[in-house]
Amino acid sequence: MNIAVIGVGYVGLVTGGCLAQLGMNVICMDVDEDKIKKLKNGIVPIYEPGLENIVRENHSLKRLNFTTSIKEAVKHAEVIFIAVGTPPLQDDSADLKYVYQVAREIANHMEDYKVIVCKSTVPVGTGQWIKSEIKTILQQRTKAFSFDVVSNPEFLREGTAVKDFLKPDRIVIGTEGETALNIMKRIYNVQIQLDIPIVVANIETAEMIKYASNAFLATKISYINEIADMCDFCNADISVVSKAMGLDSRIGPKFLNPGPGYGGSCFPKDTKALVNIGKNLGYIPKIAESTVEVNYNQPRIMFEKIKNTIGNLENKTIAILGIAFKPETDDIREAPAINIIKMLLDNEVKIKAFDQKAMENAKKAYPDFSIEYCSDIYSTCEDSDCIVLITEWKDFMSLDFSKLKSIVRTPIFIDLRNVYEPGYVKSFGFLYKGVGRN
Ligand code: NAD
Repeated sequence: MNIAVIGVGYVGLVTGGCLAQLGMNVICMDVDEDKIKKLKNGIVPIYEPGLENIVRENHSLKRLNFTTSIKEAVKHAEVIFIAVGTPPLQDDSADLKYVYQVAREIANHMEDYKVIVCKSTVPVGTGQWIKSEIKTILQQRTKAFSFDVVSNPEFLREGTAVKDFLKPDRIVIGTEGETALNIMKRIYNVQIQLDIPIVVANIETAEMIKYASNAFLATKISYINEIADMCDFCNADISVVSKAMGLDSRIGPKFLNPGPGYGGSCFPKDTKALVNIGKNLGYIPKIAESTVEVNYNQPRIMFEKIKNTIGNLENKTIAILGIAFKPETDDIREAPAINIIKMLLDNEVKIKAFDQKAMENAKKAYPDFSIEYCSDIYSTCEDSDCIVLITEWKDFMSLDFSKLKSIVRTPIFIDLRNVYEPGYVKSFGFLYKGVGRN
């Protein structure tokens, strides 16, 4: 099957690469000329485990091609996936200008039947808007091609995106017609053979499923963070609390790890967008609103924890381990580390930092940050007054605390991911603070 993917970011490139891997002929289109040039030369512009091999292999087999021409992409494909960004606007609603632009361009260039699949996370009603806009443009062009619009929200997680795409928990297909549904089932035939559940719904339901799922997961995180922050004020240990909670099969153990707050390109914007969607419907989603508020406060609470532990921040050097919003990604969008670093810099702290993959993005996005980026864990921690672990990269989970003790200026370890047993770190002579346990 001939497929086009418009927007070659985390979702678009994974979608394009994986569909090519499943044997489809895929063309990936992006307006970013530099990105397309790199991809044509076998350079994958983002870090995502397993993706580089898939992209290179399928590109060399000519099953995966790249272009900056939407006309070429539309001409090539029977099915067009829209995977452009939907970043937040000032009022927290999703900015749909890229989606709108792509829908109009598809309508301007289509010359036969197409299935237009929206993979971008978009507010309820967007699929119907795409449908009516394409219809209007085709009428203006006096063309009567038929087409179908499908909502196929993506649930992949950065860091495990390839695995998540190929073997998701479920596939949601929001559609109005049998033809499009059958085409989508052909695209996902391998997953269907693996017994992965397919949820078929109308377009609006599919759009709502994505926001409801992300906001629920974000709520779980804000909830456990709130409980952890309370544990900090009493003699309760959040690790034991969350373990016991998770053993209840109605609750489940996932997303009950406290930390500095959720980040990334999805949870922050999607929770805010859900609040906005609700308000536009005349309804105030109070739980989502509180989730957003708790998450907004969490990096400040972490900053206060650091400040209160160290005492006077003046002339202090802090070693930051991890900048990415989570391990196995170079993505720093809405990363809690960024907010914490900002607050520390505002307090004249000297920052040394190390992250396995995200330092280049941090340098590019925050050129004004006065940070000494280091090449490894131990040079980062050398002569520091406090080590703050923010992203739980695997390498940070087996630190040599004897070595650290011998190179730091002051042995303070603040573990914002509760990676270590407090007693273990303390046994090396460190003062230890976790989130909701000390
Ligand atoms: P991204 O910012 O990494 O990539 C978006 C790409 O779209 C960019 O390369 C940009 O140049 C391109 N683009 C913008 N306008 C274009 C146009 N007119 N024509 C062609 N290309 C254009 O975004 P992302 O993280 O891949 O997210 C894409 C969508 O998927 C968003 O709606 C997001 O909410 C959703 N989503 C993201 C994730 C995730 O983990 N990143 C997971 C699930 C869903």
